[in-house]
Amino acid sequence: MMLKVSRRDLVLGAAGAFAAFGIDRPIAFIGAACAQEPVAPPFRRYRLGEIEAFSLLDGMRDVPLREGMVRNVGVEQVKTALRAAGFPDNQTPIRFIVMALKLRDQVVLIDSGTGGHPIYGSGNGRLFESMAAAGLDRKAVKTILISHLHGDHIYGLMNNETDAQVFPDAEIVVPAAELKWWTQPGVDSIDLGPTRKGLAQRIQATIARWKNVRPFEGEVELLPGVYAVEAPGHSPGMVTHLVSSGGRQLLISADLVNLAPHIQTNPEWQLAIDQDPQMAVATRKKIFDRAVADKLTISGTHWLMPNVGTLAKDGNTYVFSPDPGV
Ligand SMILES: [Zn+2]
Repeated sequence: MMLKVSRRDLVLGAAGAFAAFGIDRPIAFIGAACAQEPVAPPFRRYRLGEIEAFSLLDGMRDVPLREGMVRNVGVEQVKTALRAAGFPDNQTPIRFIVMALKLRDQVVLIDSGTGGHPIYGSGNGRLFESMAAAGLDRKAVKTILISHLHGDHIYGLMNNETDAQVFPDAEIVVPAAELKWWTQPGVDSIDLGPTRKGLAQRIQATIARWKNVRPFEGEVELLPGVYAVEAPGHSPGMVTHLVSSGGRQLLISADLVNLAPHIQTNPEWQLAIDQDPQMAVATRKKIFDRAVADKLTISGTHWLMPNVGTLAKDGNTYVFSPDPGV
């Protein structure tokens, strides 16, 4: 039996608990009445046929709201969406979540988190703590699938001071289009905002030279049952990863939408953080529609915990139903 709770009930419920617990931090309510913040568990576990999938919290950040954060929507509309989702309206909560797959003989990571790089705020880079909490051995990581080459997805691969490899014995599987874009002549001089300052040089000094990097083209099978799905827009060569096992499918959607779908229900919002916002919108709608039609389970890197669930379409918006895991 599913308990039917209206959106209004959720908002009132969140506000009530906020007062009742005397908490000064945001609480987002998922499902009927399950508080997920601020005591986010560091991991969630999911069963997918033969495979176990994990959400591993690497970090949390609240980004102050500013005009232009969403290019085609005013800041008031973003505030309204934040309040409707039960959050304060002066900042957007984002998470840094690394997904992991436990296969028979290895642990696969999808992206590597921030590596604790200060540009993403303090207290981040908790991937190994979250892995330990989930019972995952970092030495068992044999493959790392990279969605795109932004720092919050690859800095976990390298030491912040020395650039030395954190996973020298793992194969790092990178979209060739992404590698090509970030190593093209003159890319260093393109201004892509503060979090991408120095990124191209760092990629060129590390991933572009490492011998354990496997670039791939197109929508190929990267590991048994794990496929790349092209998703350009947020970054030119970004891919998402579709994992298939036991008749179930999980789409690990990386930065297809950076704001949690609790907050951004409208796929048409053009986020300033997307390098090509129009392409990002087209890609988002295409993949979200596929997720609805094929009843995929879907996850996002920067969504709130639990960052895994299903999507339904409601007019022009998408409704996300989080799955708390097992
Ligand atoms: Zn990201």
